[in-house]
Amino acid sequence: MNIPQPPGTPDPRATDSLDACPVCSSQRITFLLWGKSRYEGTWFRYDLCDDCEAIFVNPRIPEVNLTEALGGRQHSYVKYLPTREYDRYEADLNLVGPTLKLHRGNPSNLRWLDIGCGIGNLLEAAKSRGCKCYGLDADASLIGWAKENTTGTQFATATLDALPFDPPFDIISADNVLEHINNPQPFLMSIHEILAQDGLLVIRVPNYNSLPRHLISLVGRLPTSFVIDPDAHPLNYSASPLRKLFEETGFEPIRIMEHLMVSYGARRIFNHLNPKWSIPTQRGAAKILRGIGWIDRLIPKGGLNVTVFARVRRDDRR
Ligand SMILES: [Zn+2]
Repeated sequence: MNIPQPPGTPDPRATDSLDACPVCSSQRITFLLWGKSRYEGTWFRYDLCDDCEAIFVNPRIPEVNLTEALGGRQHSYVKYLPTREYDRYEADLNLVGPTLKLHRGNPSNLRWLDIGCGIGNLLEAAKSRGCKCYGLDADASLIGWAKENTTGTQFATATLDALPFDPPFDIISADNVLEHINNPQPFLMSIHEILAQDGLLVIRVPNYNSLPRHLISLVGRLPTSFVIDPDAHPLNYSASPLRKLFEETGFEPIRIMEHLMVSYGARRIFNHLNPKWSIPTQRGAAKILRGIGWIDRLIPKGGLNVTVFARVRRDDRR
């Protein structure tokens, strides 16, 4: 592979070299770009898989260090509170509602596990529709807040390899989690083992094929843009590599959504404006913002996120 010189110092933490695509194991990989760390000012190499179109950091930060950084980050839950009402509504509109419609089971009979649940917004939406809810997050401060401020959901500070709840689950979700994981195949295979045979898996990740990303590429700003986050995102997905990944790990995608996410921009504005507002004012504003979510529905492609709804492949059922 012909690799141009980096524009600055390569990141010294990037020691885990790949000679094949982490999504589909193809060795047909080519250099794509040098991308800048958001925090360190160092540079990471990005490669493109010619077979599945996955974009990945190579060499990357080893998995053990990544997990430690995620678990040890101790996000302040305060950051998520201003948009909580809106986030719950957004999760209900774009994840919980479509999932229950596709599953068709009676929600009050369904056990829902959310991996990387944060302060539990998605599970609050699932619970309000009747599901029995279970939440995992590596960050103890987020789980601590969720335990103190919500009822009815079982929460645990843990990762999937030390699952404290009994499987199987009828629905398993991971919202903005997969892009943080170096080796997505073992992660999805672990989910396969604990998902009910007629269950549903829902994965949402940032979309590399988004319209904003194409615009940023066009003006030559990609290496230092928000799309590039090599410290936290070893992989950048779009619909194509996701489809491949699901097929290779025994799942069958039944619906792929990539709304434009006008609502994402609205959330940022909301987040910026309302930290000092009272809870009733926040709820009122969230209700107004709900309407914006429907604009997303009108534009089916090029969204900032891509969501895959998948079930266990028939020939892969136990
Ligand atoms: Zn690939």
